[in-house]
Amino acid sequence: MIVAEGKPVEKILEMIAPYKKVLIAGCRGCVTVCLTGGEKEVGILASQIRMARSKDGNALEVLEQTEERQCDAEYNAKFLENVGKVDAIVSLACGIGIQYLGEKYPLTPIYPGVNTLMLGANIDVGRWEERCFACGDCVLDKTGGICPIARCSKSLLNGPCGGSQFGKCEVSAPVKEDIPCGWQLIYDRLSALGQLDKMSEIIPAKNWLRAKGPRTYVREDLTLDRS
Ligand code: SF4
Ligand code: SF4
Repeated sequence: MIVAEGKPVEKILEMIAPYKKVLIAGCRGCVTVCLTGGEKEVGILASQIRMARSKDGNALEVLEQTEERQCDAEYNAKFLENVGKVDAIVSLACGIGIQYLGEKYPLTPIYPGVNTLMLGANIDVGRWEERCFACGDCVLDKTGGICPIARCSKSLLNGPCGGSQFGKCEVSAPVKEDIPCGWQLIYDRLSALGQLDKMSEIIPAKNWLRAKGPRTYVREDLTLDRS
C-alpha cells in the first residue's frame, strides 16, 4: 500500500492562510488504511483548522468530503459540487491522488495535507515498512522474494556490500537503530529455499533513464476500442 503521514496542522494553516472557504478532500484507499487521510482524519483536520482560524479571529468555512479514491477520474467527478463552492482544496490523498484531483479541477488551487512516504507493508499496529520502490523491473525472482532496492540501505542490486555485522546493516550504528541488512535477509531466504546459487548471479544494472517522461502502464485488454 501507499503509506503517508499527515502534515503538521501549522503547515496546512500556512498554505490556506489567504482563503475563506476550503474543502478537505479525503480518500478511502491506502490513506484510510494507514489512518492518515480517510473520513475520520478529514473530520479531525477540519475541526483543527476551524478552531485555529476562529481563535485567530479569521474564521474559515471548511467543507468535508471523502470518496473511494482520488487516483480515479470517476470518483474525482463526485467532488464537483463542493469544489465549485470553495476557494481551495486540501487533499489528504497520496501524492498521486492530490495531483489527479488537481488535474480534474485545474482552476482551484490544491494543497497537500499529507506527505507521501513509501510503498510499505503494515508490519505491526501503527508501524509500516518500505517493501518496494516501484522500480518497474522486478527482480524478486532472483532475490528470494525480498526487494534489494527497498531493503538494502544502498539499494544494491548485487550485495552484500561487506559492511553488515551480525545481520545488521552498517548504517544501524550511525542512525542508532537496528536495521536488518537487506542482503543478509536475501541470503537467509535463498538459503532456506535451497537457492543459494542465485547469490552468484549478477543482476544487471537497471535502466533508470526515463527518456519518455513519467512512466505509463496500458492494459490493451482493458482499453476501449476507439477506432
Ligand atoms: S525489484 Fe523491488 S522495487 Fe522493483 S518492483 Fe520488485 S519489489 Fe518493487
Ligand atoms: S550492510 Fe547490507 S543493507 Fe546495509 S548497505 Fe550493506 S548490503 Fe545493504
